[in-house]
Amino acid sequence: MAEEKKLKRKKIKATGEMNRLMTDYFLELDQAAKSGSKKIAWCTSVGPAELLLAMGFLVYYPENHGAMLGSARMAADLIPHANALGYSPDICSYLTSDIGSYVTGNTPLTKAFGIEKVPKPDVLVFNTNQCRDVKDWFAWYAKEFDAPLIGVHTPRNPSGLDDNITSSVAKQIEALVEPLEKISGNKFDMDKLKEKLALSRECTDLWKEVLDTAANKPSPLTFFDSTIQMGPAVVLRGNQQAVDYYKMLLEELNERVANKDSAVEGERFRLYWEGMPIWGRLRAHSELFASLQTCVLASTYCNSWIFGDFDPADPFNSMAKAYTELFIVRGDDVKEQYMKRMIETFKIDGVIYHDAKTCPNNSNSRYGMPQRLEKETGLPSLTINGDLNDMRLVSDEQTKTNIEAFVEQLEENK
Ligand code: SF4
Repeated sequence: MAEEKKLKRKKIKATGEMNRLMTDYFLELDQAAKSGSKKIAWCTSVGPAELLLAMGFLVYYPENHGAMLGSARMAADLIPHANALGYSPDICSYLTSDIGSYVTGNTPLTKAFGIEKVPKPDVLVFNTNQCRDVKDWFAWYAKEFDAPLIGVHTPRNPSGLDDNITSSVAKQIEALVEPLEKISGNKFDMDKLKEKLALSRECTDLWKEVLDTAANKPSPLTFFDSTIQMGPAVVLRGNQQAVDYYKMLLEELNERVANKDSAVEGERFRLYWEGMPIWGRLRAHSELFASLQTCVLASTYCNSWIFGDFDPADPFNSMAKAYTELFIVRGDDVKEQYMKRMIETFKIDGVIYHDAKTCPNNSNSRYGMPQRLEKETGLPSLTINGDLNDMRLVSDEQTKTNIEAFVEQLEENK
């Protein structure tokens, strides 16, 4: 068996500042919800957040709450409450755990920030670019809160992105302006949208630079670090605080690179993670890979908040392009080209596919991709069966055995 050692994982110093930012973000939402001082929009994680910010809304992201439910290992107890309402155990476990959280009045926000409940929405805005589940999820809350539900329907799995697709999405985003004006009571201001988009672009560029530091040997950060560090890119993009934070984080990581300071002590193998994180096992997996001197250092998941096409000079079209050309939206041919570039850039030795039972949208091992890529790149891969939030679907023993055997295979191939 691959030798397992108890090795230290390096902590990122900037994390304290990130926790402060996230606390401020949630407390502001809570205060606004209680006082009614500002309108609140719920938005899907890759929805048109910049438009909502420009219209003066505070933006809350239920998927972020879903990930917190997974990390706090609360999901398995909550999911059955959503199942009882007719939402199957086989659909998105963010959706089921989040609705379960709401109906039972249990939220991780209480322990983390002293917040009793999620902020009530004045409007819910979705983009189906990632899946249909987000629309169904928001529809349940729209009924519950008697709040308007509006959104964008994006065609899924295209190979090429032609003008027909992006101009349809751009028109749909633009069509949100009128209802948002009515709900917010604010007039749309193009300059504000440009300003928010410029901030989002800066955030996204810095986030990319952060993730790209992992291309160095040894890598200064792991995928597990990145799943935590991506918080501001998800919930604070379009705000100056996210830009300032990533500048600070980047400085720390560049210092690590200059000192050849590795995230995993004695890095021997470099892996790519394809698919959702297993939120309830982040720490356990981080420790397991570190003990095998193996650094999981790049992923499609964390790269999903890189929107390189945002262009403040052409807001609606560039938002449409950036939010539609995402990995999760595209056909397998485009995904495979992307993976090959990532494998090369990050000098990857092997690929882990997470087949998440309740998220077929972010599980790419079901239609032959691992086999095709193995053939083309010559790199081995391992598929782990599990889930993002429902830990009843994760077999710890089997996962550990499979990962150890995979690292042993990498050793033999060396
Ligand atoms: S992409 Fe997957 S995890 Fe995310 S909301 Fe959709 S079904 Fe849930």
